[in-house]
Amino acid sequence: MSADMSGLVIRDRPSPNHDSRGDVIAGTPRIDMLVLHYTGMQSGAAALDRLCDPEAKVSAHYVVEEDGAVWRLVPEERRAWHAGVSYWLGETGLNLSSIGIEIVNPGHEWGYRGFPEAQMEAVEALCGDIVARRRIPAHRVVGHSDIAPTRKSDPGELFDWPRLARAGVGLWPPPAAELGRRRGRGVGIVERAAALADLARIGYQVEPGNEVPPLVAFQRRFRPERWDGRLDGETAGRLAEVRQAVEVALAAVDAAKRDRFRGYRRVN
Ligand SMILES: [Zn+2]
Repeated sequence: MSADMSGLVIRDRPSPNHDSRGDVIAGTPRIDMLVLHYTGMQSGAAALDRLCDPEAKVSAHYVVEEDGAVWRLVPEERRAWHAGVSYWLGETGLNLSSIGIEIVNPGHEWGYRGFPEAQMEAVEALCGDIVARRRIPAHRVVGHSDIAPTRKSDPGELFDWPRLARAGVGLWPPPAAELGRRRGRGVGIVERAAALADLARIGYQVEPGNEVPPLVAFQRRFRPERWDGRLDGETAGRLAEVRQAVEVALAAVDAAKRDRFRGYRRVN
């Protein structure tokens, strides 16, 4: 059992389902993504059993129960098996570079419901600690559905991404007030093309003829009032807002890299 400065208490429940992150030559493995899930099972106990079952071959680094209890299943240095076939910003196989958190919730199959306050407090503290320690940029905190939109819908439209963003975890630019009036309104060919380019720039895998799954994933996360996969005026406007926030986050990462490089030259 260990507690960090936020008072978060983490208990160990080791899972055998992990392997090496592999990056031996470069030294420390690169960990620069955080992936949030819901368990999608009828109870937290059932989810913990499955995530620790060698036959199931699935796991996560952490599980957060509805009462706020936090379990560590896999050490962060090891690769947990939570993301599966996945894509973000041109990268695939994201278990390698990510930390995965399973948040207990029955999910859309068993009676999807809101995430209780005690659980969200623990999620916020755990994520805040991880992104600070690992310096995970805001645009690289994602939901499972963002990186596997044709297969997954977790953590889903009831998850409080704005709350996490206020705590410094992930991106959630506040939507412009007038955007809501464009909900349901059609867009022209030019605006549609620009919006799909924004969707790809944010990180989603966008394939011609298969735009609906990433659009649904985007809407669940950034326009949860309606996630029908239709590229309406509000979705297009929201895509532009989020894409701009991603550009700012990317520029901040570049600036940090330049600062590190300057420091390197100074000491040499
Ligand atoms: Zn998941």
